[in-house]
Amino acid sequence: MTGLILKSTRVATPAGLVPAAIEINAGRIVAIHDHSARPPGLALIDHGDLLIMPGAVDVHVHLNEPGRTEWEGFATGTMAASAGGVTTVADMPLNSSPVTTTVEALNAKRAAASEGQLRVDVILHGGLVAGSAGEVGHLAREGVAAIKAFMCHSGIDEFPAAGPEDLRAAMRVLASLGLPLLAHAELVTPVDGAIDDPRSHAAWEASRPESFEVEAIALLIDLCRETRCPVHIVHLAAASALPMLAAARAEGLPITVETCPHYLAFCSESVPHGATLYKCAPPLRGAANREALWAALADGTIDLVASDHSPCPPAMKCLDTGDFFRAWGGIAGLELLLPATLSMALRRGIGISRVVEWLCTRPAVLAGLPQKGAIVAGGDADLAVVDTAAPWTVTSSLLHHRHTTTPYEGLQLDCRVIETWLRGHRIWHDQAPVGSPRGRLLTRRDNRI
Ligand SMILES: [Zn+2]
Repeated sequence: MTGLILKSTRVATPAGLVPAAIEINAGRIVAIHDHSARPPGLALIDHGDLLIMPGAVDVHVHLNEPGRTEWEGFATGTMAASAGGVTTVADMPLNSSPVTTTVEALNAKRAAASEGQLRVDVILHGGLVAGSAGEVGHLAREGVAAIKAFMCHSGIDEFPAAGPEDLRAAMRVLASLGLPLLAHAELVTPVDGAIDDPRSHAAWEASRPESFEVEAIALLIDLCRETRCPVHIVHLAAASALPMLAAARAEGLPITVETCPHYLAFCSESVPHGATLYKCAPPLRGAANREALWAALADGTIDLVASDHSPCPPAMKCLDTGDFFRAWGGIAGLELLLPATLSMALRRGIGISRVVEWLCTRPAVLAGLPQKGAIVAGGDADLAVVDTAAPWTVTSSLLHHRHTTTPYEGLQLDCRVIETWLRGHRIWHDQAPVGSPRGRLLTRRDNRI
């Protein structure tokens, strides 16, 4: 393979946004040159003033294969990722069937994730369920990125919640291996009062109050303090949990926090009656809460943004009845993670370098992928070329998920992914895939196993 130069006046490097020429060879970034450099013998692609940033690393994606491929699948999910500038996805241990809680199930998923259908790189998370703590060491040694547990019903019966003793036992093992526990942090208890209108998002929100998240996170902080296991709070929705998380971090506990673009884009007050496309768990919360999440991203209490891409067949969203209590809880946002988060951040005056930390650098660290998430010499040449002044309106027909109905329909964005590069190959260009799938199945690199 011969070398190549990609240049732009706006390249997002760890030193900030700079004019630069990126030299690529054999899939890796070889060097970052001055913008004017033209090393002899190399092909040159000049992207003008378009933003070149690292490909995004989405650490929270449900691709649901094997077993529920009709919900998404590796082929369609990684196609959508490539369209959205995401070059690595970490696949959750559910809602595939079998769920990925044993090495045998991990091997079944590896077989399903045959490289001929991966358009971006994929790493797999393992799962912890009630009674399975004895498996997590085996999964860790197989190179899973992290271990995911639910502290409440997961939505599918074959992935039961882990109780405090399951968590404690698993966290002791994970602490010794340096692998993070990913926790769906809601402790669900019965809520007083009958549901008077199941088509009301306010009723759905009231059934899962912020206190569920706060109580679960308090328990996780205690277990983290006891075991020193790295803990990652997935999809934080409740801003009222932020002070305790900030205090835990100030104490030196190894806790990281993620939120999702839907909690940053939408708020409960503006969900139309019966609009179950907006259903997720934890639920969307109010506008003031949304502003507090943005502030926590800005001050670093929240580390990163991941999609929690959680698709299902449209019939499961109960769009006909609009019943929030029967609809599947989950929003498919993989393809919009980068353009939506970047568009919203830029409108708020937040710098591109911060967004790169949230979408690329920190997720790569969490997943144990030191070769990903930054434009540095020696790293994989995974890049997104983005026009940050290209207004467009989200329309389901433009998306590439298997099921494209979306609560983002009609949302105005300013940023559009023009090209996506995976290990030195252009895989997406001009709103279409390029070439055959080149994605690989990755394993975690930096654990101390
Ligand atoms: Zn999820």
